[in-house]
Amino acid sequence: MSKPPEAADPRRHIPRTDALLALPAVSEARKRLGDTAVREVVRDAQEAARRGVIPPNDVERRVVEALTAHRVSSARPVLNATGVVVHTNLGRAPLSAAALEAVVAASGYVDVELDLHTGQRSKRGAATRAALWQACPAAGDALMVNNGAAALVLATTALAAGRAVVISRGEMIEIGAGFRLTELIASTGARLHEVGTTNRTHLRDYAEAVAGDDVGAILKVHPSNFRVEGFTSETSLTELRDLGRAHDVPVIADIGSGLLQPDPLLPDEPDATTALTAGADLVIASGDKLLGGPQAGLLLGDAALVQRLAKHPLARAVRADKLALAAMEATVGGPRPPVHEYLHADADRLRVRAESLGAATGFPVVEHDGRVGGGGAPGVPLPGWAVRLPVGAAQRLRLGDPAVLPRVHESACLVDLRCIPEADDARVLAAIKQALADQ
Ligand SMILES: *Cc1c(COP(=O)(O)O)cnc(C)c1O
Repeated sequence: MSKPPEAADPRRHIPRTDALLALPAVSEARKRLGDTAVREVVRDAQEAARRGVIPPNDVERRVVEALTAHRVSSARPVLNATGVVVHTNLGRAPLSAAALEAVVAASGYVDVELDLHTGQRSKRGAATRAALWQACPAAGDALMVNNGAAALVLATTALAAGRAVVISRGEMIEIGAGFRLTELIASTGARLHEVGTTNRTHLRDYAEAVAGDDVGAILKVHPSNFRVEGFTSETSLTELRDLGRAHDVPVIADIGSGLLQPDPLLPDEPDATTALTAGADLVIASGDKLLGGPQAGLLLGDAALVQRLAKHPLARAVRADKLALAAMEATVGGPRPPVHEYLHADADRLRVRAESLGAATGFPVVEHDGRVGGGGAPGVPLPGWAVRLPVGAAQRLRLGDPAVLPRVHESACLVDLRCIPEADDARVLAAIKQALADQ
């Protein structure tokens, strides 16, 4: 960047801060973005003029443009073109329109712990609890906490601190980013009593543990993100329930993904209703995986047990926030959330959309399997289609506006429309054209 000649001294013409702040568009932006962010934008534009990057008479325009584009949060919306439905790095489940509306409604003062009829304090999250119970009547009661891990911590602390939690060696899993369920349980002061082997654990293994140890709970974990195949055997929840009943030990099933009812598309994915009917006293699940709601941990099951957990002091430390409670109520009581739509997207319709995108960009359409993601149903492909672009387009798509996350696979950039609302197809096309033009 060449410096402007000293004689012109353009700096004398750079608009002053107070003059810029007084512009109607800028004072409007101050209400939206706050003083600090606005002053920073003003400073940046003045600095650009000082360095000769823009002429002084462009400062005003630069400030107004920058403020219009300025986001209130650094979180950037991303169009998920990976075909992975529950994408952990993209915040797992996108909220439904109903959940979004509920979040907005709950964002101010709200009757989350107040009975407007009597004016008295009410039970926090009662409406969400009712909605969950309605969506999963097999549960005697329901409690929502911060996330699945918190639900597990609460359950093991309340039921087994200082005692043993019996768990099969085939279910001692690491979920992602080094998060091991077993370490989490051990951190609560419960002792792990491992039984069986990686591939086979029998009822007698559990029976020996329960007979010979001070057992607070039997835990069955769905090994969400991997499969053991071949010479395997596990003990059913029904067998464990009978064993537990005989020794007064509750059986907890951590099902992971949070389906409340079976989904025929995912026959191996556990669901809360089936687990409770089969014999689990308590089911633990995440709210933002296949359930398609906000980040949450669900505890569903025996009413006395759920109440015991709700009354434990730790429950306060892991309690759900009012926005998540509202979003969960709207998710389980409202229309099918996006996760469900994307999971069940019609392959023929995906092909029509992909072909239209391929024709408009001049790139081939290839078969492409989507994935459940989020550690769910690891072996299940979701047949679909993708437009295959040169691999070099991937970064430009990610950095474009809107940001698009494609899948980079075998030296190609694959754009899969499964997890993109059809109304956004035109935006994807525009983003691809931009990314290719930038080459
Ligand atoms: C995802 C998962 C968890 C953790 O749930 P978060 O909501 O991520 O805290 C626990 N157990 C299983 C089996 C899971 O799949």
